[in-house]
Amino acid sequence: MENKLRLDIVTPHGLVLSEDVDEVAATGTEGEFGVLPGHVPFITTLKIGMLVLKKDSKTEYVFVSSGYAEVSPDKVVILADSAERSEDIDVERAKAAIKRAEERLRQEEKVDFARATAALERAAIRIQIAERRVAR
Ligand code: ATP
Repeated sequence: MENKLRLDIVTPHGLVLSEDVDEVAATGTEGEFGVLPGHVPFITTLKIGMLVLKKDSKTEYVFVSSGYAEVSPDKVVILADSAERSEDIDVERAKAAIKRAEERLRQEEKVDFARATAALERAAIRIQIAERRVAR
């Protein structure tokens, strides 16, 4: 479609989103990046963060955990470990994940620090994105 980008977000759990959009912004490991139709191709790794998509007059927010993005002039493919649209985020689940991770981090021994920190980060960002839920 002219002047649109096809955005596909794929996780091991399935296709989260496949839509024609006007603009995509996401969190790469090298920093945030924005893509409009016609962008030069590139591939980047992603870190836990928020993907923002603009479509007509709507803005939507999607949680994306680590993975990578493949950008071509008419397409953005996101391959992530997990992803949810803001309205699909279960805030109580994320709060429980924060509690679990915090308890683990308080233990002095046998803690996989990186794993607990990443779980904490995923949950905290999920909550932030859920707060941006678009009223429908
Ligand atoms: P949890 O400890 O609650 O499972 P997690 O960060 O370890 O959280 P992930 O490994 O990122 O979970 O994701 C596993 C699956 O659960 C994915 O399909 C993901 O989309 C889903 N998921 C995880 N947390 C939430 C949430 N708060 N709301 C909705 N879906 C979630």
